Amino acid sequence: MYPASFEYLAPTTLDDAIAHLDEHGDEGKVLAGGQSLIPLMKLRFAAPTALIDINRVGDLGDAIVSGSGGLVIGALVRHKDCERSEHLRGRYAALGRAAPQISDPIVRNHGTVCGSLAHADPQGDWGSVLLAAGAEVAVRGPGGASRTISIDDLLAGPFMTTLEPNEIITEVHVPDPGPRASGTYLKLERKIGDFATVGVAVQVSLSNGSVGRAGIALTGVGPTNMRARAAEEALVGRAPDENAIKDAARLAAEAAQPRDDVRGTAEFKRSVVRVYTERGLRQAVAEAQAGQEGG
Ligand SMILES: Cc1cc2nc3c(=O)[nH]c(=O)nc-3n(C[C@H](O)[C@H](O)[C@H](O)COP(=O)(O)OP(=O)(O)OC[C@H]3O[C@@H](n4cnc5c(N)ncnc54)[C@H](O)[C@@H]3O)c2cc1C
Repeated sequence: MYPASFEYLAPTTLDDAIAHLDEHGDEGKVLAGGQSLIPLMKLRFAAPTALIDINRVGDLGDAIVSGSGGLVIGALVRHKDCERSEHLRGRYAALGRAAPQISDPIVRNHGTVCGSLAHADPQGDWGSVLLAAGAEVAVRGPGGASRTISIDDLLAGPFMTTLEPNEIITEVHVPDPGPRASGTYLKLERKIGDFATVGVAVQVSLSNGSVGRAGIALTGVGPTNMRARAAEEALVGRAPDENAIKDAARLAAEAAQPRDDVRGTAEFKRSVVRVYTERGLRQAVAEAQAGQEGG
């Protein structure tokens, strides 16, 4: 099916892009990689009257920048850039490991990290990885207004965010998890390129042999990508031994809200959350203890 007709706008500055969004209100949509928006328009689930293409906006970044405070991922960074980035290794390995698990090369060549977050698909992978990492987004609105929103506060429900219709995500900030840190993303899919049946993102920072910070987030088992907070809290301050890991995995499975669907039963998905949380934590802890650079 063809999309309903729309006006196509291709601004070259962020201010112009926001002005177009402001003018069109709920009827205007940002176009980034188009990998979620265009299929929705073709199916007529979405019919914006104006598309504001941000790909020519010079003041939006297309690079991953690593600094002393952490990483900055620009609004035009594609999944493929994350797959190849030398910055997404070691303490940031969870991001580098998630990227190649997203769909196929065509989607990864076009789709953006920020577009995934704005789309807020509960089966999207970036939401979980960035929740576990404790990331936040920088957002710009009309009149130069800017704010930052934690990923926890951004994801409001299935395909819903707390963004205003006239706001654009300009970048993602990933805090530096410290030198003794690692993480991973484990995804069960029915076949290569599928959305997650279940995904588990883990991020662990060690401090004096104990867990200083833990991030655990789940894909496909709730109305949004969701933090398993009780599981995280069960790890903090403890030695990351087998008992602590098993306790956290049990709590992560309890936190999941899976439903029966074509990808599997709720019981099966809950069990996968437990097993993947255990596996992910074992790997992240071992790498953090070794100070090893993840591949
Ligand atoms: C066949 C297929 C398989 C897929 N499989 C997976 C998968 O396994 N895992 C996964 O995570 N994803 C998957 N996706 C989704 C893909 O990752 C998309 O790239 C991503 O969800 C959206 O990014 P985009 O840049 O293409 O955004 P677009 O499609 O351009 O936009 C998506 C939404 O976000 C808004 N938006 C985009 N950028 C911004 C911004 N900077 N600020 C504010 N709003 C913005 C748009 O207005 C729109 O509402 C798949 C997509 C397809 C087509």
